[in-house]
Amino acid sequence: MADAITKGEACAYCGDAFDMTVPGKRKTRDHVIPKSIGGGRSVLNIVFACADCNSLKANHTPTSLRGLANDVHAFAIRCRVMADHVERIMQTRGMTIGGGND
Ligand SMILES: [Zn+2]
Repeated sequence: MADAITKGEACAYCGDAFDMTVPGKRKTRDHVIPKSIGGGRSVLNIVFACADCNSLKANHTPTSLRGLANDVHAFAIRCRVMADHVERIMQTRGMTIGGGND
């Protein structure tokens, strides 16, 4: 995989091979340090990334990506807790989805 990345045949972030027939797997150029925060245009700051990874990374830094991951994780926990609450209320009230509940 590392060799394919070095050769520019695979995404530097996820390692998937590029595929021009799949929109998310198109080959794009990404600035490792975003231009918006001072990343340069030299080859040192450029990697090839699939469109999906490039779009997710956007103008993020490692720090802001970790913050995003923490937010998503917290959101996932809230969703799980909420699902349990909704399920419990439905069960105690004998409700079913599509069951014509009033
Ligand atoms: Zn990728």
